[in-house]
Amino acid sequence: MSKFQTPRGTNDILPSESVKWQQIEQIIREMCTLYNYDEIRTPIFEDTGVFKRENDSSDMVNKEMYTFSINGKDSLTLRPEMTAGVVRSFVQHKMYGEPDLPKKMFYIGPQFRYERPQKGRQRIFHQFGVEAIGAKDPMLDVEVITLGYTLVKIMGMNDLCVMINTLGDDESRNNYRNALREYFKPYLGQMCDDCKRRFEQNPLRILDCKVDKDQPFMKDVPRIQDYLNDESKAYFEMVCEGLDALEIPYKIDDHLVRGLDYYAHTVFEVVSLNENMGSQSTVFAGGRYDGLVKYFGGPEMSGIGFAMGLERLIIALEGEGVKLGEEKSIDAYVLVLSDNVKIPAQEIVTELRHNGYSAEIDYNSRKFKAQFKTVERLNAKFAVLVGDKDIENNQVTIKRISDQKQFVVSLDEVVACFDANYENDEEHHHH
Ligand code: ATP
Ligand code: MG
Repeated sequence: MSKFQTPRGTNDILPSESVKWQQIEQIIREMCTLYNYDEIRTPIFEDTGVFKRENDSSDMVNKEMYTFSINGKDSLTLRPEMTAGVVRSFVQHKMYGEPDLPKKMFYIGPQFRYERPQKGRQRIFHQFGVEAIGAKDPMLDVEVITLGYTLVKIMGMNDLCVMINTLGDDESRNNYRNALREYFKPYLGQMCDDCKRRFEQNPLRILDCKVDKDQPFMKDVPRIQDYLNDESKAYFEMVCEGLDALEIPYKIDDHLVRGLDYYAHTVFEVVSLNENMGSQSTVFAGGRYDGLVKYFGGPEMSGIGFAMGLERLIIALEGEGVKLGEEKSIDAYVLVLSDNVKIPAQEIVTELRHNGYSAEIDYNSRKFKAQFKTVERLNAKFAVLVGDKDIENNQVTIKRISDQKQFVVSLDEVVACFDANYENDEEHHHH
């Protein structure tokens, strides 16, 4: 029995699983390069005020944050999401003054939320996301949605739905909030406690409630579309036209409002329809935010981004039968057939490695048969046999596994023998 286990809601990504994660991250990085987004890495914890903004009505901020203080003075919080930290950094480093805005950034990393753990819902999970800050152009919204959509498509996700909505500008949203308050007032008594709070703080959030969503009064709520001013309407129409032109399929969802209180104009959510997802079906979500740059002390500037849950992405992909993580193999396994040859064998394995061949060696003085089993388990392309006799004669035997062909070469010809006889369908990255 192991003395400790991972804390509730957290898990290890084991050595056998990390190939899968590396593969996903590689595709993400390639896509971000194509779209010209650069990586940003911000601290895992920030001042609590970065996340906890006055009047924020979200569950994430109000119930799910890991907040701590070491000396009783500073309150710090493990990041529950990245947008706030990225915008904080954007302002701190005066990126708003750089010449070629929008500043386009992406991130990959762990996030922390105190939630009830379920499939696709953990206390430590990983997000990939992008933020493009410093331009308010519907085509930038189109770009961000296209990036996320294309990424999950090329990874092999097919069973998905893009939902978009607009929250309009401040004026439109204020009109809509008033209309919602008026509409919900008679039903206040039937609402959950959170919605009672939302009614005061931000009635838009009531539309997002998971408790009250099936209540009869949720059927006929006013629609944002009827409260948009002309400018907001035109903005949203451009976004839709852009998506149409790029053949990104989407559905307009009136009830989509999203978490952050700073969201304005476009909001979107991409859900997997795969049954594997359970009720945690949203793979990525985001939107445009106004006011956040200003909140952190910068100028009035708008941004847009999304965040993708990587655990959920993996569940969705595997649910659709996508095989992640290629079969692992190694170039050479060095068999140490006597304790007397440990040092020359170690020289050989090191020389191979330093010449670009991945190589492993036995460290347990095992019998020949046991060592040869490892050649198979590691899927090695060559076995290098080092025994007493070999070293006495200043040579080794190299066996190519694919055709069982053997080469007996002198100790200083090992690498040359690999160079001459290495057969690979893929390109061998030989340094
Ligand atoms: P939900 O409604 O499922 O709680 P959310 O609105 O809190 O999601 P966001 O803050 O928008 O989620 O985060 C973006 C993405 O990060 C989600 O769509 C999801 O894929 C992922 N995500 C969020 N919370 C978790 C979690 N606790 N565990 C795993 N993934 C998560
Ligand atoms: Mg949540």
